[in-house]
Amino acid sequence: MPEEWLCMECDIICHKKLVLHNRESCIDGFYRPIPPTVCCVKENGRCTLKNQVRLLPTVRPDRLCTCDPTNITESAGRVTILVCINGRYDLYLPNLACRVCLSQWTPDRSDLIRSGYWPASVNSETLFSVDVFSTFEEMKTVAPGLSRQGFLRLLEQRTEQFGRSGKIHGDAFQRSFVEYTFCQFLCEKMANVEHFTCPACTPNMLAVSADGNRKLYRFQHSKGSEEPYFEGIFIAKDVDVSSFVEEIRSKAKSTPGKGTCGATQWSAARETARRASKLDEEGLEVAVCRHGVILKGLNMYRGEIFAYPLFLQKELQAATNIHFYCTDISCKYWPYLQKMSVSMPELSPLLQMRPFLSVMHAKAHSTKCEIVWSGRNQEGAGATAGEEVEMVNSFLSRCALTTKFMTKSARNDMLTVHAIGWNRRKHDGLHLALSNRYVKTVRKAEAESQRLENLSRELGCPENMVQQWVHDVRQWATDDSIDVRQDDQHILQRSIEHICMGVYQKKASLYNQTDSNKIRQMRRRKLVEEKRKLFEAIKRYNEQVPEKEGITEQMVESRLSMVGHGSGEDSLIWPWEVHSTAYRSILLTGSFV
Ligand SMILES: [Zn+2]
Ligand SMILES: [Zn+2]
Ligand SMILES: [Zn+2]
Ligand SMILES: [Zn+2]
Repeated sequence: MPEEWLCMECDIICHKKLVLHNRESCIDGFYRPIPPTVCCVKENGRCTLKNQVRLLPTVRPDRLCTCDPTNITESAGRVTILVCINGRYDLYLPNLACRVCLSQWTPDRSDLIRSGYWPASVNSETLFSVDVFSTFEEMKTVAPGLSRQGFLRLLEQRTEQFGRSGKIHGDAFQRSFVEYTFCQFLCEKMANVEHFTCPACTPNMLAVSADGNRKLYRFQHSKGSEEPYFEGIFIAKDVDVSSFVEEIRSKAKSTPGKGTCGATQWSAARETARRASKLDEEGLEVAVCRHGVILKGLNMYRGEIFAYPLFLQKELQAATNIHFYCTDISCKYWPYLQKMSVSMPELSPLLQMRPFLSVMHAKAHSTKCEIVWSGRNQEGAGATAGEEVEMVNSFLSRCALTTKFMTKSARNDMLTVHAIGWNRRKHDGLHLALSNRYVKTVRKAEAESQRLENLSRELGCPENMVQQWVHDVRQWATDDSIDVRQDDQHILQRSIEHICMGVYQKKASLYNQTDSNKIRQMRRRKLVEEKRKLFEAIKRYNEQVPEKEGITEQMVESRLSMVGHGSGEDSLIWPWEVHSTAYRSILLTGSFV
């Protein structure tokens, strides 16, 4: 590294020990890098480059034998390829021999590993320096989309830049990398490092949220028969999941697909079903604690069915004490769980958890649904958003760029490595995240209680009145008697509700259902169409009713804009949902504390 001009003799002496240095030579005015296996010599009055033997730097035995050390000679053993962060080196393994007692030494596997090399094969024809692996792992955690080929290109470029040559075998690199990380994982396990638990909330987890990620699919055409190393560590074994799903099917006749809120049955699957024929795994369902630590995952094979979150819930139940279980469709999932636990009594302990509709997703549900199920309105949930799984999913989605072309086992291993990397970063930053969160929450709690106080003073209502109001709103929301009147106005009302729910759901799932721009474009067009229909219907409705009972278009617009990215507490209540003026005065304040 340091710039230094050496004469030919000094170069040979100096770089006999420092084999891996990058060197450059200047002969006849040509300045160029030279590999370690080349040195400069003077022949017939001219300087030329000549090959020389260079040995791999390794640990050496303290004593080879009891003879006089001057009798020991050093020579070149087998050829070996070393790959480190500077690229590829072609070197020789050292070989020590004693002239007197004829004992010999050449580094075996444990010597090489102690020297910081990872043999890619049994005979150590190729060695990887372990810091390449840790660099690669770090880069994969920071930039999950980076491919192995990209990284190897970088190493090969460095090989060439420093005057060396040769390619690096991609499959050998991949295999060794996984082997190394798996050994690392086992070592840490022996030291009782837990990778898939959260130090902040074990053993009493307040909230765990689960959601599917449909971008983590895998194409069928990469076939491989090797077994994964990290089997069942992060991603549950496929056999276990499928046997559970089968059991459920046999008990319940049909496992409903992921439903949607309200009466609408909007088929999300049409576009994906077409593609599904080329896919093996269709996605990944992950469970995450409220601090964003990944706990467990499973491969999805038949779309997002309720059996998947149920499996995760059952798995985690055994290990942790979960209080809230968050999903983006709790309003449908919980009744399903209640039904299932009747026919499968072993599931009934799961009902001790509380349902929790993630706060942002609640915006894609009807207002009544939001009041009943949203995490904002669950006592004891605090500022839990139930959206932590979205962060993890957006991280994992970036890995999908490379994992979708891998074989089954490679995908499993790489996703586990990514998940471990993610959790490690979470663990390392936990103290900062927690203290930040604490300060923020305290401040927010103060501000909110101040707001409540101001509001109740403004409206001149005492504490127990507020309680009564909250109770009334709950009552209103749980009342789901269906209006069956069939006159024009009511049909129009229902169709407005219907279209509006459809628009919410389409908007909310625009990005998480598909990673194809073309399909998104198509959906966006449909969305605009639906929205136009909605406003047409509203206009027709407003013409029929007195102005006071009409729908304010701006309110609808602002509510729609909140789906997917909104914050705030606007809620949209259709005029016909308001029964009496008493209710109306509460609802118009728009805050459910
Ligand atoms: Zn010199
Ligand atoms: Zn000897
Ligand atoms: Zn709902
Ligand atoms: Zn946690």
